[in-house]
Amino acid sequence: MSAVPETADVVVVGGGIVGCAIARALAGTNLSVTLLEARADIGDGTSKANTAILHTGFDATPETLESRLVARGYELLGEYATQTGIPVERTGALLVAWTDEEVDALPGLKDKAERNGYHACEIVDSAEVYRRVPNLGPGVLAGLTVPDESIICTWTTNLALATDAVARGTRLLCDTRVTGVVVGAKHTTLHTTRGDVHCRWVINAAGLGSDYLDAEFGNHRFTVTPRRGELLVFDKLTRPMVPVIVLAVPSSRGKGVLVSPTIYGNVMVGPTSENLEDRTATGTSEEGFDFLVSKGRALMPSLFDDEVTATYAGLRAATEHSDYLIDVDATSRYVLVGSIRSTGLTSGMAIAEYVTELFDSADVDVTPRADLPAPPTMPNLGEHVGLRPYQDARRIAGDAEYGRIVCFCERVTAGEIRDAFASPVPPCDLDGLRRRTRVMNGRCQGFYCGAHTRALLDAQSGRQ
Ligand SMILES: Cc1cc2nc3c(=O)[nH]c(=O)nc-3n(C[C@H](O)[C@H](O)[C@H](O)COP(=O)(O)OP(=O)(O)OC[C@H]3O[C@@H](n4cnc5c(N)ncnc54)[C@H](O)[C@@H]3O)c2cc1C
Repeated sequence: MSAVPETADVVVVGGGIVGCAIARALAGTNLSVTLLEARADIGDGTSKANTAILHTGFDATPETLESRLVARGYELLGEYATQTGIPVERTGALLVAWTDEEVDALPGLKDKAERNGYHACEIVDSAEVYRRVPNLGPGVLAGLTVPDESIICTWTTNLALATDAVARGTRLLCDTRVTGVVVGAKHTTLHTTRGDVHCRWVINAAGLGSDYLDAEFGNHRFTVTPRRGELLVFDKLTRPMVPVIVLAVPSSRGKGVLVSPTIYGNVMVGPTSENLEDRTATGTSEEGFDFLVSKGRALMPSLFDDEVTATYAGLRAATEHSDYLIDVDATSRYVLVGSIRSTGLTSGMAIAEYVTELFDSADVDVTPRADLPAPPTMPNLGEHVGLRPYQDARRIAGDAEYGRIVCFCERVTAGEIRDAFASPVPPCDLDGLRRRTRVMNGRCQGFYCGAHTRALLDAQSGRQ
């Protein structure tokens, strides 16, 4: 890329859920928006590897910005999911108390939920807990229900927001890492790995890299500590054992390990919580595996008679601040969106709404455009949410490619892979194709379909 000639009104740095949500929101006004992502694809950072729970915010710290934006994000993303086809399952959650101390904590947690504006929690006895989740191990004393916690597809969320942002006119530049910033009187120049980019405003949604970018604006107000969360994924046969999200009672040591159904029809156990220094350490570890096996076995021993088919890890962008750090510097025309640790999937759209309000207060014109395109219709990656193409006889009759299975574990068809390549934000590698279709995401992890999928990707790359 040679130097980009136009000056955008706004450059958003970071193509995770938060950056894509902000780009989409601002592209819904008359502002011109450019979205810069260091990696080859959007959604390839923390947003691709989390526990994928659409949080009500019942357990947030009351009266924080995070609690407000999580509750608002729950509403906004829930509505957006209905409009776009992002799969969501309204499973509900159950906090389980195993000790007297945890039983004593339940009324306080119910009260906290109410202070967060969430009034549907109920304390239940052990018989009711076992009625709801019969496979829990022995020793449950009581529980707290959270009927509105839900599971969602984090990959489709990120992709829908990016697709929508692009449809609204956002210029998306991947493989473009910001390496330096020069703030001028009227314009800012961003030095990137693919040339200079000019703009009026910069929004820093760079997640694990947000403190480095903040320092380019002369600030030294926080340091990101990557906090690794490892997870185990169980085979689909286990899914009936976990009808709701099973949560631990939080303690001073954190939220604890959960057992949850996934939107792809599996069960997962995790996450761990470990502060690291390496911001790229997304590999899993033997210690993490052993920890989750011992914790998980106590929660649900019979689950561990079945097979773990995959493990993965994500890095929370933790900082020394306990709340979100969202701040406007009107002099430098700069917005920091930092410290979005463990709730940004849920809150992303509310953060975008909040940033739009902050722009309004800084006298930037954010009047909504009248000519917005319809939101995108996303392919359904949910296992128990509507029909998938291989199940849809009418669709297959109209296009035989939807009846030609490429990935047998996840039942992904050639038609879906073709559609992903033809989409407005296409994949550029196998992992990106996996996030758009579920290909190679099953129990064989690509052992059978990997070569065929690679050939499809290579053929597509040859055509471009
Ligand atoms: C284990 C775990 C479990 C979680 N569970 C949940 C959950 O159940 N529910 C929930 O709501 N949230 C959850 N989260 C939190 C959620 O995943 C994050 O808050 C959210 O994904 C953060 O999105 P983001 O856009 O800020 O960051 P990211 O997705 O990391 O995006 C930031 C992007 O910025 C890019 N970037 C960085 N530096 C630069 C630069 N200099 N130039 C250009 N680009 C740059 C990166 O490449 C990256 O793609 C969890 C997180 C983890 C790790």
